[in-house]
Amino acid sequence: MSKVIGIDLGTTNSCVSVMENEEPVIIPSGSGSRTTPSVVAFTKNGERLVGEAARRQAVTNTDRTISSVKRHMGTDWSVRIDGKEYKPQTISAMILMQLKKEAEEFLGEPVTEAVITVPAYFNDIQRQATKDAGRIAGLNVKRIINEPTSAALSYGLNHGEAQKVMVYDLGGGTFDVSIIEIGDGVIEVLATAGDNHLGGDDFDERITNWIVSNFKAEQGVDLRKDFAAMQRVKEAAEQAKKELSSMDSTHIMLPYLTQAKGEPLHLDMVLSRVQFQKLVDDLIERTAGPVQSALNDAGIAASELGRVILVGGSTRIPAVQDKVRMLTGKEPSKNINPDECVAKGAAILGSTLQGNAIVAAGTGESLLLLDVIPLSLSIETVGGVATRLVDRNSTLPIRYSRVFSTAAPYQRDVEIHVLQGERPMARDNRTIGKFRLKGIKRAPAGVPQIEVTFDIDANGILTVSAKDLDTGKEQSITITANERMSESEIRQAMQDAAQYAGVDQVRKEAMELTSEARSLAARTQQALKEQGKQMDKVLKKQIKNDCSAVQKLLSKIRLDKVTEMDVQELRAAKEQLEQSASGILM
Ligand code: AMP
Repeated sequence: MSKVIGIDLGTTNSCVSVMENEEPVIIPSGSGSRTTPSVVAFTKNGERLVGEAARRQAVTNTDRTISSVKRHMGTDWSVRIDGKEYKPQTISAMILMQLKKEAEEFLGEPVTEAVITVPAYFNDIQRQATKDAGRIAGLNVKRIINEPTSAALSYGLNHGEAQKVMVYDLGGGTFDVSIIEIGDGVIEVLATAGDNHLGGDDFDERITNWIVSNFKAEQGVDLRKDFAAMQRVKEAAEQAKKELSSMDSTHIMLPYLTQAKGEPLHLDMVLSRVQFQKLVDDLIERTAGPVQSALNDAGIAASELGRVILVGGSTRIPAVQDKVRMLTGKEPSKNINPDECVAKGAAILGSTLQGNAIVAAGTGESLLLLDVIPLSLSIETVGGVATRLVDRNSTLPIRYSRVFSTAAPYQRDVEIHVLQGERPMARDNRTIGKFRLKGIKRAPAGVPQIEVTFDIDANGILTVSAKDLDTGKEQSITITANERMSESEIRQAMQDAAQYAGVDQVRKEAMELTSEARSLAARTQQALKEQGKQMDKVLKKQIKNDCSAVQKLLSKIRLDKVTEMDVQELRAAKEQLEQSASGILM
């Protein structure tokens, strides 16, 4: 049975893990690092770069480099490059394909099964988009799991004692906090809260703004007008932020950053930890609300927490750790790597789904995982009211039915408007789908019995159906929110991805072959020069012809548009030359 990999598909970085000898291990990227930047780039010669290679060239290729795509998951955002439009799912799929490839190289076998993690606060559309990205990448996504749950799972393996744990997860783009109960072989998520748009990227932006306004004040130049300079400033801002996690101040130096009146301008500034904390104080304060609301929903006081686990790169910031101490009165646990525990938890779950029981250390019992739904689900009823069917933080999987009736006499059809969110009025919540139940039996208002059922699977993905109990007519939801990819769009994207993998192979072959052919032609010409005089005239002519045939093909080939046919032609010409010139080539 093929192994299931656990993927933490992060806003900034992604991480992959797999179970080996009952332990989750991290799969290193091609460049040897333990996480892969979630960055995709399209080079001008048609090459696609993912990960470290894409991140490195971002400065010089800003408008063709995509980072933080996770922030767009489940929205109608798209990017157009070389006339082709890419949705967030397709870009995420490119990252997943790279991770899949690296896992295959590491394991030496094909990988088709995965568990992917998402922020607990992701709504149905965002979860579905993540699952679709997996499918496009050729992965069977066995489960979508909340990141904090996943972190707790890797924690649960090492610590058998029963306790309530807070997972405080501040990554690159999202903040999640979950209260989890571990014990008696069960990991149960009691409550979860968070902010979909809060993370390390916001801290970087504050430093960037600080640099830009200081530069303007010092040099009178607005860096925002210089695209390439801005990219360097953004990178330097992130670097400075990271350094301030271990140092009291940092030196930001960017020589030759921009030009004014034909003169180069350099940037040289010092940022102290205290200044940085002032810049981001309100952002860190914003984590307090979700922490309190998760505690309230779980019905516990902070003093009842056994442990506080930090997840996500941004929890390395001392001011963030101080805030956690202040909010919980606890010293956060630091024995878990905040960058890796989410992927490891997903690998553990993947292995369990494959039928291998996970055993809680200390208890010797297998673990059961109970996840929750992050936001309440309702349908719109008379007067634009959101009538709740499933409360947030209900344990998954869940199925809930309720009977509704018509509002007008002799109404023949009803619209079922499905909403996600906590607000009492429909318009203040997020629409996740609409459909009509038609052919209701003619009857006075309030007489027809329409049963609406919400079915949420273990991934947190929802199916809604409505049934007229009189006629037995039933209709299931077709999500109309245009952020969701249709089945045909997903199929098209899967085909494109598979085709790209093929094109990629041809391009790789062509690159190797052209370089070999070029070297062969050069060596042949050199040999002709040195030995031409003593050679048989017919053979010399033959070699010259074969060599110019190779050179002609080489000058024609364009790597960004190369086809299988070009490769075959060049290979044949090269073989012909190797044969005829074998006598003069040593
Ligand atoms: P994640 O999404 O968990 O990979 O977190 C990525 C975020 O953590 C990015 O915004 C990074 O800049 C940030 N990060 C990583 N290392 C550090 C560090 N040492 N200090 C501050 N922030 C960091």
